[in-house]
Amino acid sequence: TREWPYGTAIRTYWPSPRHAEPWLESALDVKDRNGNPMPGYGWIFPVGDGTVNIGVGALSTMKGFRKLNLNTLLDQYAAIVREPWGLGAFTDKPRAWRLPMSCTRRHGPGWVAIGDAAGFINPMNGEGIDYGLESGMLAVEQFLADPATAPAEYDRIVGERFDGFLRTGRRFSFLIGHPWLLRTGLRVAVGTQAAADITLAVMGNLVDGSTPDAAGRTLRVADRVLRVADPVLRRTRPRS
Ligand SMILES: Cc1cc2nc3c(=O)[nH]c(=O)nc-3n(C[C@H](O)[C@H](O)[C@H](O)COP(=O)(O)OP(=O)(O)OC[C@H]3O[C@@H](n4cnc5c(N)ncnc54)[C@H](O)[C@@H]3O)c2cc1C
Repeated sequence: TREWPYGTAIRTYWPSPRHAEPWLESALDVKDRNGNPMPGYGWIFPVGDGTVNIGVGALSTMKGFRKLNLNTLLDQYAAIVREPWGLGAFTDKPRAWRLPMSCTRRHGPGWVAIGDAAGFINPMNGEGIDYGLESGMLAVEQFLADPATAPAEYDRIVGERFDGFLRTGRRFSFLIGHPWLLRTGLRVAVGTQAAADITLAVMGNLVDGSTPDAAGRTLRVADRVLRVADPVLRRTRPRS
């Protein structure tokens, strides 16, 4: 929706001679065959079994999202990486899912929502596995400690741990919904080694609001700036 951003992503597995390499590759500016920017990002990582995982994702706040065809976006990204990765034929039909980034209710009498069901996906990088594991473990701990108070306690703890950071992420998604800000931001994000290190830390989910290093400090500043800018960013977001 316009108020509550979400993502969509698609992935498939492709045979590649580079299936056992230690590096993954990510593209923050996917372009079509004519060099026009497409709304979304792409990744490719070696699986080690003769294949690589290749996929693309997009945020609902991005310009052009409503008309976006994920299969087409995947084709465009595959065309970029086909040669360097020596991609063969598909072994797997591409599959797409939604990436929920918010929820209206995550606990009630006798139940709690964890992982994607609770909207625990980081809008800055589309990652949700670690939040799924962490929230699942928290839920188990609380139910083992006291089933009666577990739902409310769980809600309080995940709120303290994740809500602020994920709110920053949702605000960030409105920022990159502005194509000009996205283009400028991308240039800054990889413009120097120091900036690229911070971008990598954020993309790799290695940082949150309490991380003490430069990436953590950047995130805390971004949080304050985005809090102020959020209403304007939402109001001025281009219709997709
Ligand atoms: C293409 C793609 C790539 C991604 N890449 C990454 C990544 O690199 N890193 C990362 O951290 N995150 C990634 N994510 C996000 C990540 O996959 C999810 O955040 C994570 O899997 C959430 O875990 P979950 O257990 O909450 O939900 P799910 O993994 O969706 O598990 C829910 C399970 O419940 C089952 N289920 C649903 N309804 C019922 C029912 N009624 N009865 C019984 N079972 C039911 C489903 O079949 C499913 O198996 C990616 C997502 C997509 C779509």
